[in-house]
Amino acid sequence: MNEKKVLLTIFGATGDLAQRKLYPSLFRLYRKGVLADHFAVIGTARRPWSDEKYHQVITETIKDLEPTAAEEKEFSSHFYYQSHDVTDTSHYDTLKELSNKLDKKYQLEENRLFYLAMSPNFFGTIVSHLKSQKMLEVDGFHRVIIEKPFGSDYASAYKLNEEINQVFEEDDIYRIDHYLGKEMIQNLSAIRFANNIFESIWNNRYIDNVQINIAEDLGVEERGGYYDKSGALKDMVQNHILQILSLLAMEPPVAFSEKEIRAEKIKALEAVRIYSENEVRENFVRGQYTAGNIEDKNFEGYHSEANVASDSTTETFVAGKLLVDNFRWSGVPFYIRTGKRLTEKGSRINIIFKQVPFNLFKNDINAACDNGSLPPNILTIYIQPTEGFSLSLNGKEIGQGFTTVPIKLEQRNSSEIIENTPEAYEKLLLDALNGDGTNFTHWDEVAQSWRIVDVIRNTWDKEDASPLPYSAGTMGPKEAFELLEKSGSTWIWQPDDWYKDRGLL
Ligand code: NAD
Repeated sequence: MNEKKVLLTIFGATGDLAQRKLYPSLFRLYRKGVLADHFAVIGTARRPWSDEKYHQVITETIKDLEPTAAEEKEFSSHFYYQSHDVTDTSHYDTLKELSNKLDKKYQLEENRLFYLAMSPNFFGTIVSHLKSQKMLEVDGFHRVIIEKPFGSDYASAYKLNEEINQVFEEDDIYRIDHYLGKEMIQNLSAIRFANNIFESIWNNRYIDNVQINIAEDLGVEERGGYYDKSGALKDMVQNHILQILSLLAMEPPVAFSEKEIRAEKIKALEAVRIYSENEVRENFVRGQYTAGNIEDKNFEGYHSEANVASDSTTETFVAGKLLVDNFRWSGVPFYIRTGKRLTEKGSRINIIFKQVPFNLFKNDINAACDNGSLPPNILTIYIQPTEGFSLSLNGKEIGQGFTTVPIKLEQRNSSEIIENTPEAYEKLLLDALNGDGTNFTHWDEVAQSWRIVDVIRNTWDKEDASPLPYSAGTMGPKEAFELLEKSGSTWIWQPDDWYKDRGLL
């Protein structure tokens, strides 16, 4: 791969994200030769670390990648630490001096990439200082990568965007949604547009409903303070789930380019119905986990988690039905479900196709269905922890008579392949270095996603009711199942049944 010349400045260099994701991803890019002689990283944060201390931390964070001693030394020698309070103007002058020095030392052609890996409260302050202290007056590119959350509602996102737009052009802003860096999310377009058998039936004539699940088996862990202010709707639906929905629902782009894909995603999001308050009550369910156990392990309820208010009404689970009002999708529910402390971790999409128009086999004893109807064809896309897809079909059972049996065609990537595929952050960093914004979220997408989510949040905020309780280890409150049952559907992915059948739940 071509070497990239760049000075990367990370704000929040001592933080969890930088250590767990960014440094290992940078090392992988270094190993591939994308970063070689002409790169430097300035890490800034409040702690008074020395360069030596910083190098020790970098070395520690890449240990799992088993670098040689030479790689370790050479890679970490490109990292510089500067203690920095983002609100102190004079610190930007020191940062500028160091940047200019490193630019010369490594011949970086004045290419600058800024990574804001810290609390979004500071995003506006940082970018305005970058401008006022003339850190962007360079001959090379200057781009900024911004972590989620981008605002906490439409109004705050709009304000933040205005602040950033004063300094950076939209094309130079890379809003991270790390789901867009995942292999199978990027594969969605390949499944849809490289296979005529799917794209030709990708509409309301053939698809009954779509189900998007992002389930976590963990609770809030050490992120209770942040999560309690956010909740599942803002933490998962506004960004990851609506991004997945837009990739599933968009029209085929005329070219596989950033501009064309974005335009189609934005149109898809604009077609998502913005609900009235009554529609929100009818179509959305929120839940909060209580204590529970699975496989003899006991889990505390949300209220007992660290840094969570004991009377918190924050939802840790959301299930809902969204509608996409356009020619392709009219009448097809997009069911979404996400939550913490669910039975199993897994992100998967189920596309449920309509029944055949006339069941020739209904008089046969059907092994899979009690009422004699055929099971539907289902395309399942596994995003994580396993990656791949499967297609459920109906075939004939071997032997005499004519009994149909479900058949599953499956392609799952092996753990070895998964291990060797680039991590989401590695891919996204490389995209930003290449100036390719396809897998980042455009402001118009962010804005529309907030418009969709704000009415749901506002409706809940007006209610006295608390989220519905569900036991840790289950797949959410019973109302989340009833939501589909009232339209004659059911959740296809039911890991809880597997555990219940074995007496583990
Ligand atoms: P963190 O709390 O671990 O780190 C915050 C960093 O900001 C630290 O380096 C701290 O020193 C620095 N900082 C705080 N105040 C400062 C100031 N006034 N001046 C200079 N530096 C200051 O946070 P994190 O988990 O690394 O998250 C960073 C960002 O990434 C947040 O926007 C978060 O929402 C987002 N994010 C994190 C994760 C994750 O897995 N950690 C995942 C997705 C998104």
